[in-house]
Amino acid sequence: MVNQGSILPNKRKLYIESYGCAMNFSDSEIIATIMAENGFETTNDEFQADVIFLNTCAIRENAEQKIRDRLKHLRSNKKTNKDLIIGVLGCMAERLKNKLLEEEKLVDVVAGPDSYRELPKLVAEVDDGGRAINVLLSREETYGDLNPIRLNSNGVTAFVSIMRGCDNMCSFCVVPFTRGRERSRDPESILMEVKELQSTGFKEITLLGQNVDSYLWFGGGPKKEFKSLTDDERLNSTDFAQLLEMVAIAVPNMRIRYSTSHPRDITEKVVEVMKKYDNICNYIHLPAQSGSNKILELMSRNYTREWYLEKISMIRSIIPNCGISCDIIAGFCSETHQDHLETLSLIELAQFEFSYMYKYSERPATPAAKKLKDDVEESIKGERLTEIIKLQNSISLKKNMAYIGQTVDVLIEGDSKKSKDFWMGRNDQNVVVVFPKINQQRGDIVSILVENATTTTLIGKAI
Ligand code: SAM
Ligand code: SF4
Repeated sequence: MVNQGSILPNKRKLYIESYGCAMNFSDSEIIATIMAENGFETTNDEFQADVIFLNTCAIRENAEQKIRDRLKHLRSNKKTNKDLIIGVLGCMAERLKNKLLEEEKLVDVVAGPDSYRELPKLVAEVDDGGRAINVLLSREETYGDLNPIRLNSNGVTAFVSIMRGCDNMCSFCVVPFTRGRERSRDPESILMEVKELQSTGFKEITLLGQNVDSYLWFGGGPKKEFKSLTDDERLNSTDFAQLLEMVAIAVPNMRIRYSTSHPRDITEKVVEVMKKYDNICNYIHLPAQSGSNKILELMSRNYTREWYLEKISMIRSIIPNCGISCDIIAGFCSETHQDHLETLSLIELAQFEFSYMYKYSERPATPAAKKLKDDVEESIKGERLTEIIKLQNSISLKKNMAYIGQTVDVLIEGDSKKSKDFWMGRNDQNVVVVFPKINQQRGDIVSILVENATTTTLIGKAI
């Protein structure tokens, strides 16, 4: 969780707290932009706020519990400021809808990810004495015409949303229900946004979507309508490889990243574009979720372990030094010890730079919740997760140690968390690098000789 904003005088003040994935942080910038056009400015002091928005995540149960706990704390804010308006936005709002208003008396506004343009109207309804909700999902909304206000920005790196929603229906996942149908954003508006970021001094962008490889622009609307186009109309479409190339050419001096890739959809064409342009970083986030074919099928991931490992080989044969990271879920429905061993062996074979690792958390109304039994005991899920983390950490450490003695190019993002005397940045492969400050500035790309390494960080000095 991060609070986002800066203080300006004389307007109604909005405080936004963002939880969960990068997409939510990017959405908070859209929310701030819409509210700014309607007389609200962001503050980073919750006690100055006239309106507090929590932009929420619903991906696992504990993400929602965090919001419930936060709402308990906000009771005292409301006691000291009776007119304070509290809104719950994003995926949890979309999932729970009216139930959230019934269960959380403190909440005045509930708004789903596709109704942010309605927020000023919803706040006005509360001003008039009511409570307000809009959780309609849209087939077209991409907020593509908005130029987002950058919140809590380091002035160096920025997110650029290129699509919304997801059509994949992985059985464990709540996203298709909370973010609706997949739709892509007009490439022209994406190019305008990235050029604007370049002209205001940003040095790196991350193109965001739940499944970027599925990006397809053909004039707007849900992706599933592509099938009904004529051959000519299809010829005029733009896929992700084309978009990536257009962005690389449009902002040659910026570093470009993207996330998230889906193993079923990532293509050689995309990896070839990465290889062709030096300003596209050699890093891919490619969640596997499991190494067992039985579990992958139950998850409806639409690929096998062999397919996944072939994609890893394809990436490494085109870009041998490509950083690859992964998401893994431990203890999915009916996962046996053998299935778990297959996940460990996939991690061993793939040699990820790092992974995000989770215990399976059943989400109401998902296909898994409806059709499968969440039958792996909590303690077993915990044990398997610990083993997965231990293995991944040992691989990350080994890979990071291999950098010792090498020189890496690092884009400086800001102070290191541990000391203001050190800079923090990332190399091409997205590994965090820290080094002592000497005459450099945030936004510089510097060559760093790596002298030491931990599981998460390279430590070095500028040369
Ligand atoms: N769209 C991306 C993909 O398909 O890889 C990821 C979207 S999701 C926001 C991020 C990660 O959360 C997933 O890759 C998965 O590992 C994890 N996740 C999703 N649903 C989960 C659940 N019910 N329990 C535990 N982890 C979950
Ligand atoms: Fe969820 Fe699967 Fe879509 Fe990712 S691809 S958002 S895991 S349904």
